[in-house]
Amino acid sequence: MMIDQTSMTLKNELHDLIEWLSMFGKTKNGGVTRLLYDAAWQKAQYGLKQKMEDMDLETRFDDAGNLFGRVSGRGEDKKVILTGSHVDTVVDGGKYDGAYGVLASTMAASRLFHLYGPPKQTIEAVSLCEEEGSRFPLSFWGSGTITGKYKMESAAGLLDRSGISLAEAMQSAGFGKGNYPQPVRQDIACFLETHIEQGRTLELEQKTWAPVSAIVGQRRYTISLTGESNHAGTTPMNRRHDAVFAASLMIAHAIQEASHQSNGLVATAGRVEADPNVPNVISGKCRFSLDVRHHELKVMDHFCEQALAFFKETADNLGIRIHVSKWMDAAPVKLDPRLTQMNLKIADHAGIPFRKMISGAGHDSQIFGTYCPTALMFVPSHLGISHSPSEYTRLADLEVGVRMLMKVLYQLAY
Ligand SMILES: [Zn+2]
Repeated sequence: MMIDQTSMTLKNELHDLIEWLSMFGKTKNGGVTRLLYDAAWQKAQYGLKQKMEDMDLETRFDDAGNLFGRVSGRGEDKKVILTGSHVDTVVDGGKYDGAYGVLASTMAASRLFHLYGPPKQTIEAVSLCEEEGSRFPLSFWGSGTITGKYKMESAAGLLDRSGISLAEAMQSAGFGKGNYPQPVRQDIACFLETHIEQGRTLELEQKTWAPVSAIVGQRRYTISLTGESNHAGTTPMNRRHDAVFAASLMIAHAIQEASHQSNGLVATAGRVEADPNVPNVISGKCRFSLDVRHHELKVMDHFCEQALAFFKETADNLGIRIHVSKWMDAAPVKLDPRLTQMNLKIADHAGIPFRKMISGAGHDSQIFGTYCPTALMFVPSHLGISHSPSEYTRLADLEVGVRMLMKVLYQLAY
């Protein structure tokens, strides 16, 4: 039997790199904790810089701590094809979320250079400094600083749980002092991100690759209801103002409506708090959360309007006061249709099992997606588990992702 030597080497190299990077911030549960600018993060970013150099990429940091590994183009077009993902993790997260995209991009850029020499257009692999929002109360610090969504000054007032400000943490890691170029960029032609799916669609459908056409918008509300607390035995049913009963009708309505939509909209009431929350007292107060996601603004608008109208009507009918607070509203982001189409064609040509997808989770690509043409590509997640030490993707699937990224980069840059 013939052994495909290049496949063996790519697989081995990828396996070794994933295991190597997961050692920085390894937890006792076998997970990874790498928070923005902490010791494990610093070791990982400086380690990656060395690794990129060993793989013949020209490296540099920007002043926010984003790390770039460049293969300079020989053409007229000075704009850069940027590809990568984030190096930070959630607390006790997995070894693939973010890390895989950083390593896939680094390997793809380096391998293309070794196979074909300098490209026409410059390729840069990037290890973005932060995406998860695990240490400071903000997320997308890496892609946000590059695209100008965040200014370096936005770091000043934000504190982590131990009272350290983002600016202090950045400086103690060696950044934010003006020693490196400012992160904001005007020379990016497009951004490409490979990432694990973090859901189970690909695995269940036995597909190995998915160009993503859109990232859902997210809206979050807290609904506070005030009725009347009273005795559970002596208050007749027709004289009650039961806040838990009102909340249950509202939640049931929202979830049922979402289930009937069959357009991919999802609604979740993940938190319910009753007051006084005892078995023999009618609850005078109840608060619940509502999280709504879809990739089209019109669909989200329509769903939220009708749900809130039903909430209001239900509250009025039961003699209950209602207060609605919307505390998160992120618009859906369409990824570049031309790049998505190109990726679908490449997959079809390569003969791998693929499908187009919508992402239900947030990614750096949603920040780049409003700034430059952006493509996001998924490989499967075993059992759909993510943000956990049990996060796992088969090496064979990870390999497909690297090979597909190489094909896409080749088409764009060579
Ligand atoms: Zn991620």
